[in-house]
Amino acid sequence: MSGGAVRQGGPYPSCAAAACRMVVGRRAGMGDAAFAPYLARQAAQVRERRATVADVQAQDHDRQLENAAAWSYLARRVGDAADPNGGLRIALPSGPRRTRALAERRRAGYRRRLMDLVSQARDAVEEVLADDTEHAVSTLPGRLCGLCRGGCCTRGGDHAYLTAGTLRAYMRRHPEMTDVEVVERYVASLPPASQAGSCINHTPAGCALPRDMRSATCNAYACESLARLLDAQRGDPAPRVVLVVQRSKDKWTHAGKDVDDRMVGIASLTEAGTRRFRMPAKHVATSDGIRHTDRCARD
Ligand code: SF4
Ligand code: SF4
Repeated sequence: MSGGAVRQGGPYPSCAAAACRMVVGRRAGMGDAAFAPYLARQAAQVRERRATVADVQAQDHDRQLENAAAWSYLARRVGDAADPNGGLRIALPSGPRRTRALAERRRAGYRRRLMDLVSQARDAVEEVLADDTEHAVSTLPGRLCGLCRGGCCTRGGDHAYLTAGTLRAYMRRHPEMTDVEVVERYVASLPPASQAGSCINHTPAGCALPRDMRSATCNAYACESLARLLDAQRGDPAPRVVLVVQRSKDKWTHAGKDVDDRMVGIASLTEAGTRRFRMPAKHVATSDGIRHTDRCARD
């Protein structure tokens, strides 16, 4: 069932894989009459799993080909003058497009959670994590996240990754504030409306929470796309142009079988600005009027 060396076992030889041997090993306890349908079910499940994996791989392969074609197109449009090394090629997720008024229920839950975190922060004695991580001075990381619109913020929910450690760091920087004042400062930073299905602080213009009030997770996080850029910027020569192919799904939902992770934009980024291109006709999946900003989604 799983390949590898075949072990002879009467009418039911098995390969060397543990799962395969375990299935065939059940024959002794079940008897042949029950074993035959059991084996057929197991084999069908294995075939189904393999077909799913093959589908996912094929769909991923198609997306890679589509990305490669779009990057080549962008490279031709941008030209060698912009970056003799051809630029850095990045596939980017997308943050949510719709905004929803913030329900009072979410605001109240957020306040309750903050009160709990603040009281833990007062009691705890652990060391404070540095909460003020900054990315490079280059504008490219901010442009990349701005184009993405916070594709990693969709799991921020109503917790926004805030911990007692975040609150403790903030309270140490503001010893003059009472616990209630700290909680109310956070609640006052909430936007009137936030992105549908995303973090309570996520707005179309980025994160509503000032950077020094955010969690270390939010301040330090880099998805694969951003990490690739930061990594490339440490190289010599650093990329002068980033060629971006943007897909519709967010950071957390882009993979898997039959995911509609369509291409929704192509752009080039330089220190001077973001330039969006019309997609070649065959790639146009939506003309969705996505709102892009040049600000970092988490700024
Ligand atoms: S770090 Fe987040 S906002 Fe920035 S590109 Fe990645 S998913 Fe998008
Ligand atoms: S960066 Fe802001 S919007 Fe994004 S998850 Fe963190 S708190 Fe929420």
